[in-house]
Amino acid sequence: MKIDHLGIAVQSIEASLKFYEEALGLTCSAREVVENQGVRVAMMALGESRLELLEPTSTDTPVGRFLATRGEGLHHICIEVDHILEKLQAMKRMGCRLIDEVPRMGAENRTIAFVHPSASHGVLIELVERKD
Ligand code: ZN
Repeated sequence: MKIDHLGIAVQSIEASLKFYEEALGLTCSAREVVENQGVRVAMMALGESRLELLEPTSTDTPVGRFLATRGEGLHHICIEVDHILEKLQAMKRMGCRLIDEVPRMGAENRTIAFVHPSASHGVLIELVERKD
């Protein structure tokens, strides 16, 4: 397992990239809109991991509500796993509260699922299946 990326909620990807690209020197490698989550996404490579900027497409989305209540900042940690469905089933058997009991399509056409922060002591965890 490894950290695939850290997700950061921002008001504006344009404005945020100024800092991450110009001040930190990272390069945005991909941008897309993930319609089923209501977010625009910008990915930046950082060593073996990545940073993901998340800008909501409207206020009535999970990231839009996160920004309204908590402001910009760290939104989730994404951990890469070998077999996401097996992992989710094992976590469910252990009594972990899951947001997604069944994996769904996330950014980059990869299979993802979110684990509720109440299970992980306050941090929203995203699982993503490893690419082969
Ligand atoms: Zn993510």
